[in-house]
Amino acid sequence: MKRKQFAVIGIGRFGLSVACSLASQGYEVLAVDHDLESIQRISEVVTHAVCVDTTDEEALKALGIRNFDVVVVAIGEDVQASVLTTLLLKEAGVGHIVAKAQNELHGKMLEKIGADRVIYPERDMGMRIAHSLVSTNVLEYIKLSPDIGIVEVAVPQEMVDKPLSESNLREGYGLNLVAIKRCDSISVSPKPEEVFRQGDILFVIGENEGIHRLEQLD
Ligand code: ATP
Repeated sequence: MKRKQFAVIGIGRFGLSVACSLASQGYEVLAVDHDLESIQRISEVVTHAVCVDTTDEEALKALGIRNFDVVVVAIGEDVQASVLTTLLLKEAGVGHIVAKAQNELHGKMLEKIGADRVIYPERDMGMRIAHSLVSTNVLEYIKLSPDIGIVEVAVPQEMVDKPLSESNLREGYGLNLVAIKRCDSISVSPKPEEVFRQGDILFVIGENEGIHRLEQLD
């Protein structure tokens, strides 16, 4: 099967991290920035790195940008450049556009133009960090909608040595246990008779209100 090819436009801190991470997983990555220094910094790491202003339609087309499976627009501060680049990518017929937004309004514009996925790295990371600060038990939080999320949490002490059926997770907290991580193995869809052990990591899905109460447990 042909491996996906990626292009990352805007090699700031976020774009650099996305491009390097894809390259380290063995993917072909084209890095694009109008700043020569940014391009020089990344040229050793990715397959191709080019210095181009992506608001220039002809220059963008000359890159053969429509041949890439996924294009990430990681231009942040210059909202006009981000929006115009996304528009030109859409018009060029790029199959999947992921665009980074600075704020809600910027995100709305990107969606309206036709970005397939709009991401808010600072906002989402802030939210995830905040959850992990509330309790040392919380390892990870992923927002699925404004009200619903998945949390990765160390098993609360009061549930250790008890089966899932007695954990009160569903009745008391309105949460569903998706999986248990124990040492290096993960058990998906645990049975009601599964007994929690010290050190277990639980993956739980549900409303934030229930997640928040679970996070308060020791
Ligand atoms: P980060 O937080 O990821 O560091 P940022 O959100 O502050 O980035 P910028 O620094 O504004 O975003 O933009 C990221 C990169 O995009 C910069 O390296 C910048 O040179 C590049 N960039 C901005 N406009 C264009 C453009 N029109 N064409 C190509 N690259 C651009």
